Amino acid sequence: MDHFLYRNGILHAEDVPLPEIAASVGTPVYVYSTATLTRHFQVFSDALAGMPHLICYAMKANSNQAVLRVMAGLGAGMDVVSGGEYRRAKAAGVPGERIVFSGVGKTREEMTLALEGGIRQFNVESEPELLALDEVARGLGLRAPVAIRVNPDVDAKTHAKIATGKSENKFGIPIARAREVYAEAARLEGIEITGIDVHIGSQLTGLAPYEAAFTRVADLTEALRADGHSITRLDLGGGLGIPYRRANEAPPLPFDYGEVIRRTVGHLGCEIEIEPGRLIAGNAGILLTEVIYLKKGEGRDFLIVDSAMNDLIRPAMYDAWHDIVPVVEATPGAELRPFDVVGPVCESGDTFARARDLPDAAAGDLLAFRSAGAYGAVMASEYNSRPLIPEVLVSGDQFAVVRARPSFEEMLARDSIPPWLSET
Ligand SMILES: *Cc1c(COP(=O)(O)O)cnc(C)c1O
Repeated sequence: MDHFLYRNGILHAEDVPLPEIAASVGTPVYVYSTATLTRHFQVFSDALAGMPHLICYAMKANSNQAVLRVMAGLGAGMDVVSGGEYRRAKAAGVPGERIVFSGVGKTREEMTLALEGGIRQFNVESEPELLALDEVARGLGLRAPVAIRVNPDVDAKTHAKIATGKSENKFGIPIARAREVYAEAARLEGIEITGIDVHIGSQLTGLAPYEAAFTRVADLTEALRADGHSITRLDLGGGLGIPYRRANEAPPLPFDYGEVIRRTVGHLGCEIEIEPGRLIAGNAGILLTEVIYLKKGEGRDFLIVDSAMNDLIRPAMYDAWHDIVPVVEATPGAELRPFDVVGPVCESGDTFARARDLPDAAAGDLLAFRSAGAYGAVMASEYNSRPLIPEVLVSGDQFAVVRARPSFEEMLARDSIPPWLSET
């Protein structure tokens, strides 16, 4: 459920009519709903009720400072994957004790930043990383709290580019080698073992892979405890899928995901951490765009819109589907016909939808791409020298620009001319 609904035939974000945002901020623009973000956090919180837990929002899904403030205000921790994200989390008021640091390529600079600024735990993904972290921590006279990310060799049954839990993926250490690596970690003075971490992929549409992975984590917890390690936290990652195609997708509910957690690891007395990103932010955002041209083609018509693959890359990158709806509701029973919805970028990949059944549309009409709140703005680029598009946060009947559209002058000012070219 989200808070993008028609009222009197006009699509609203909470209590704000979208045409009002388009008129005030211009298109294309990302629009986020505070009530939806809040609701999604609450749903996870309810699903884990009764178990000690921390929901660490995977901020790579949407790291706008305003979104982070909403999450921080709800008591969320953060899952960060870079020094930049760590700084963003801190800037949004999240204390270090609520930040977990994931990622296969943490640099020594990033380790230092997090150790000095405070960190709940590093999710360590390899032995070389473990050794580097030990060295950095000892150099600072500190001990680094660590969970080791294990790769459970489970097929998450999701798109290949976002599956992370099979042995051929670059993530984590093979679960079969975990005891050996924990033994090594226990010998390192700069390392303090706190738990186990696992994350098998993103946009999971079934619970069976979680059940398999968490069962392996439970077995490993008992084996590691028998080896004398103190395992007090289990970080179970993120990845729960969302319905991008409302008409025919029904991914598992957070409540049932919570039941899987309870059933597989609930008896271990560990504090549970989860790292949802997409499910928190995905359906809390839309991309609002305007039709520039209706172009008649051979056998199909094109709706050429003012947003493009540089603004929302998911269709080009993951063959992703986004529901597309007109901001002015079609009259009931209006005939639908197939359109290709495309952007202005000079690549055929710049296609949001092929042969999508839509009500008739014309230049100047506003459309909304639904489910664009996660992995949308954060993956945007300035390809084709298209400025990054603005982001707006709605709360009730209020809205505010939370990232402004840069000017062309600002874009140009980031380039510089070397001295040997500046003579002319
Ligand atoms: C991407 C990622 C997440 C979040 O995944 P979602 O599918 O957005 O929930 C969580 N943890 C780690 C380690 C990740 O890389």
